[in-house]
Amino acid sequence: MSKSPENIHTTFDQLLKRSDKEELLQQHSLCVWFTGLSGSGKTTIAKGVELELHKLGYLTQVLDGDNIRSGINNNLGFSEGDRLENIRRIAEVTKLYLNTGIITLNCFVSPTIDVRDLARDIITTEDFIEVYVNAPFSVCEQRDVKGLYKKARAGEIKNFTGLDAPFEAPSNASLEIKTDKMTIAESVQAVVNMLLPKIELKN
Ligand code: ADP
Repeated sequence: MSKSPENIHTTFDQLLKRSDKEELLQQHSLCVWFTGLSGSGKTTIAKGVELELHKLGYLTQVLDGDNIRSGINNNLGFSEGDRLENIRRIAEVTKLYLNTGIITLNCFVSPTIDVRDLARDIITTEDFIEVYVNAPFSVCEQRDVKGLYKKARAGEIKNFTGLDAPFEAPSNASLEIKTDKMTIAESVQAVVNMLLPKIELKN
């Protein structure tokens, strides 16, 4: 498929700008990209951050792996190609939110540097705030929030991140949260504190 089909005429330049929407919402939009093992705490923290920001008057949208895979990406599997397409679509959807002035809280295992680089390239480095939600494999396995570790151990899930597929830790995330050492409330607060100066609208 061509990247710029000749019969497609985009109208981005004729629409209201992102800055107009940000002005209306009185916030600067950006994408918080939570990466980490399944069960490390991405969704729990994102939900807490959303609640805190909501109370402070900020408009957010949580984008979560399971929700996206059951909806817009329900035709994608876990092959290499499908994993990349999954992330590409997520990143494009994220851009639509950012252009509407909305802060997105993205919860995706996104286990490799390549996959996160793809998302960062589409979303742009400026708008991409990486948060490494870090808990040891053994802790995530013990939590086994969705029963996936048990299934993976039983061989019912192949290429399970941390078991028979690698997790490449980010080397320069904006924030690292060790969820085996912090409470949920402390973890949420750490993200909120990091974000507040970045989402404040500067005139
Ligand atoms: P993920 O979205 O990364 O797959 P979840 O948020 O679904 O993970 O699950 C994380 C689990 O870890 C939850 O049961 C949560 O209560 C627990 N947990 C314990 N401490 C923390 C913490 N500091 N931050 C986030 N989750 C935590």
